[in-house]
Amino acid sequence: MAEASGAQGRTPLLEVKNLKKHFPIRKGILSRVSGHVYAVDGVSFQIGHGETLGLVGESGCGKSTVGKAVLKLIDPTAGEVYLKGKKISDLGQLEIRPYRRDMQVIFQDPYSSLNPRMSAGEIVGEPMYNYGLAFGKEKEEKTRQLFARVGLRAEHMLKYPHEFSGGQRQRLGIARALAVNPSLIIGDEPVSALDVSVQAQVINLMMDLQQEFKLSYLFVAHDLAVVEHISHRVAVMYLGKIVEMTDKRTLFTSPQHPYTEALLSAVPIPSPKMKRKRIILTGDVPSPIRPPPGCRFHTRCPYVMDHCKVAEPPMQEVEPGHLVACHLRQPGQALAAAAASNPALTAPAH
Ligand code: SF4
Repeated sequence: MAEASGAQGRTPLLEVKNLKKHFPIRKGILSRVSGHVYAVDGVSFQIGHGETLGLVGESGCGKSTVGKAVLKLIDPTAGEVYLKGKKISDLGQLEIRPYRRDMQVIFQDPYSSLNPRMSAGEIVGEPMYNYGLAFGKEKEEKTRQLFARVGLRAEHMLKYPHEFSGGQRQRLGIARALAVNPSLIIGDEPVSALDVSVQAQVINLMMDLQQEFKLSYLFVAHDLAVVEHISHRVAVMYLGKIVEMTDKRTLFTSPQHPYTEALLSAVPIPSPKMKRKRIILTGDVPSPIRPPPGCRFHTRCPYVMDHCKVAEPPMQEVEPGHLVACHLRQPGQALAAAAASNPALTAPAH
């Protein structure tokens, strides 16, 4: 499959090839496997050094599972993951430990991942100790510097997770991730649970830290407006597959997949003079246990053709660095033009 990268001519920081995660469904007293949840079903992408890739889609599309499988918090069913050119997907839990240091995660709800019995200072200092990076006074000084860098005060080091607000806890989660000098941070809906004003503060902090520490981010989110702000490139997921991937500007001004087009039509434009034609998708997202044949989006696509119901569209590079999986799309042809010129199309629903 074609792949787009922000790291042309250089080994990407992270490369994911045809990643799959199928969860078995077990039934009966013998726990026989009666089927699978096809949560991630052949996902490929690259992330360059210092780059942010936004991974968006509706809840249940598999985007959070991608992050967990990359980190090997869950074992992938198939596929390959390379970090700085080194294949890490085959490594066991012990062998992968040094690479884990280089890949940190920030969760949507940091509270559940913070030990309630440890003070904030201990929480941030612990990974430095575990990886042998700093001890004693040096660890304390580094912790103090990290607290200052993420906007927490030195006295916060003595507090416990329950004494922090949601935004402060997320800053604490960021400080803990930074404590081991990672190259890549996977943010799993890191601002979804925060108020809008706090969201903006945390995102701006993440962008500043990216510059300062030359970080790369895989930013998993369902909110396109948030993704637009922080990402360099964006990948759109639907039912376990990436359907479109390109640079942020192209995606937001010229989406080429009908699903991306529908998602974007729901994003408000911050100008009373400009309006977007809203595309309302009908029908529910199909179950990942029985994904539809052909194009997985065909049950909801306003442009569906008979061909879409039987043949899966390949991912094609329609313009340099712009990948789309849709039968309507041909290199150099815009979605609206393709739709207008195809007599087999049904009228879009509005
Ligand atoms: Fe719609 Fe067909 Fe394109 Fe799928 S392949 S998005 S059903 S037009």
